[in-house]
Amino acid sequence: MLDLYAANTLAAFWHLLLDPPVSSTEWTEAIRAAVSILPPVDRPIAGDSAEVAPLVLSEAHMGPNRWQLGWGTQLYYEVKPLFPRRLNIALRQRYRQLQERRFPLAWPVEDRYARFLYSCAAHLLRQRNLDLASFVGFWPEGHRFALVLTHDVERGSGQAFVRTVVDLEERLGYRSAFNFVPERYPIDHGLLADLRRRGFEIDVHGLKHDGTLFGSKQAFDRQARRINQYLREWDAVGFRAPYMHRNPRWQQALRVEYDLSFFDTDPYEPMPGGTMSMWPFFLGHFVELPYTLAQDHTLMAILGERTPRLWLDKVDALERWQGMALLNTHPDYLLEPGRLAIYGAFLEAMKERRNYWHALPRDVAR
Ligand SMILES: [Zn+2]
Repeated sequence: MLDLYAANTLAAFWHLLLDPPVSSTEWTEAIRAAVSILPPVDRPIAGDSAEVAPLVLSEAHMGPNRWQLGWGTQLYYEVKPLFPRRLNIALRQRYRQLQERRFPLAWPVEDRYARFLYSCAAHLLRQRNLDLASFVGFWPEGHRFALVLTHDVERGSGQAFVRTVVDLEERLGYRSAFNFVPERYPIDHGLLADLRRRGFEIDVHGLKHDGTLFGSKQAFDRQARRINQYLREWDAVGFRAPYMHRNPRWQQALRVEYDLSFFDTDPYEPMPGGTMSMWPFFLGHFVELPYTLAQDHTLMAILGERTPRLWLDKVDALERWQGMALLNTHPDYLLEPGRLAIYGAFLEAMKERRNYWHALPRDVAR
């Protein structure tokens, strides 16, 4: 599994402009000096320091069998459609306390991987008796951080609300990606064409959104073939898995440039965990763009927030580390009373900040 993450070396992260260039021995020493910042995993990691970043990004801190869906989770998706919606939300809120207690990462800000990366660079400079060094910035045009907006369109009612969300974003000067489910509701191809014309991006969000995609490797491969057809048909290059179910190895079967199914830290998903990365990273043949802001459903339904305060606080932390603010909201949730206003307030507040690169996911990946 770690081979999928092998491209994420310290030298690939920090393009330090030093003469002579940083040697791999220097990086190894720096990693050894900083590794204690990271949470423990169930295997020694100091032995081969090249493995440290891959271990973090592969969520090794979440224990073995990380990518297996528990039988309880699978059962939940089979019986969930039978429950009334109110009961589902009540169950989620009860389950929330259990999830928060068990969760080994920090939330909403998990900055240990960021501190590790910065400590490695600091250690290296100390070894060379330097106070500062130039490096190639993470974002184009000297921007301090990045802002990426994405949306999963869950149902037909959400699809019918997409234009309202688009109008709001367009009015404020934003563009975003909308991820549609190919075989759950009739796709409005006129809407897709309209979105493309207006500078928005289209992605694929699962196949049927029924919880079966990651049931087995065979099930995944079978559905992946159809997903790849839709990617081609829609001229799409990005994918996000329903329910943030994920498997780095299986997902290599998808013909995408980037994926959006992972996140830096999130205790509230059916597969809680996190890559701890506030930046895009290489995952096999594609780029992973982890979301780093709480999902709208978490913020508004599970936590009951009535303002975008939590999002803006997290943006502050991401700016400090020069990371990527990536948000996933759902037209299906935003159409409920009061919710679009919270999203609008977030966008308005972000308009006041000028020091970030606002881009579509495909541009970030490229
Ligand atoms: Zn979804």
